[in-house]
Amino acid sequence: MILSSVPVSLLRQYCFCPRIPYFLLVKGIQPVETPWMKQGESYHEKQTLLNKRRSFERYGLDGNIRIEHRVSLRSELLRLHGICDAMLFKDDQPMAIVEFKSRVKTKLNMGEIIQMAAYSMICEVEFGRQFSFGYILSGDKGKVKPVSINPEIKLKVLQVRDALIAQCEECLLPDSSASILQCGQCEYLNFCADRL
Ligand code: SF4
Repeated sequence: MILSSVPVSLLRQYCFCPRIPYFLLVKGIQPVETPWMKQGESYHEKQTLLNKRRSFERYGLDGNIRIEHRVSLRSELLRLHGICDAMLFKDDQPMAIVEFKSRVKTKLNMGEIIQMAAYSMICEVEFGRQFSFGYILSGDKGKVKPVSINPEIKLKVLQVRDALIAQCEECLLPDSSASILQCGQCEYLNFCADRL
């Protein structure tokens, strides 16, 4: 299977377990909706509403700032596309990605950092401006934490993208180092005979 563009959310999924994009893209198996997926959706809806009333002091930003939710992004050059949770604009110019996490996070995992960096890279290419920081908005109170987008993490984005494309071309079930804990919360557990 030739993948012309990779959904950014699958870069994060690939970091969790490479088999997830395999099941989705190569086998065409959609995940069964789980209670925590529904929880995530309602968290996003709630934060979208609350953001309309919030000031931007929590981002450490002032001036002419506004936020747009669910922004579609695509770069043919990077072969990446997706919909970020939100984007901040300053003086009507795009300036940073915001991603929502329902649980308060002190530290992001690699997949989450890669997802944030991938959206920021698309913006840099498409808008011709630096996106050196993104923001995580987490918990019920919408705690905000900046995330640095550095050259190392950008390189990692491209490495994961290429590994995912190569895996789709091979069409073989990949090995996985996922732990019992990870498999226990995975919607594809029924498809991994070696993990049952
Ligand atoms: S059950 Fe485990 S090995 Fe299988 S896709 Fe999920 S995380 Fe990966």
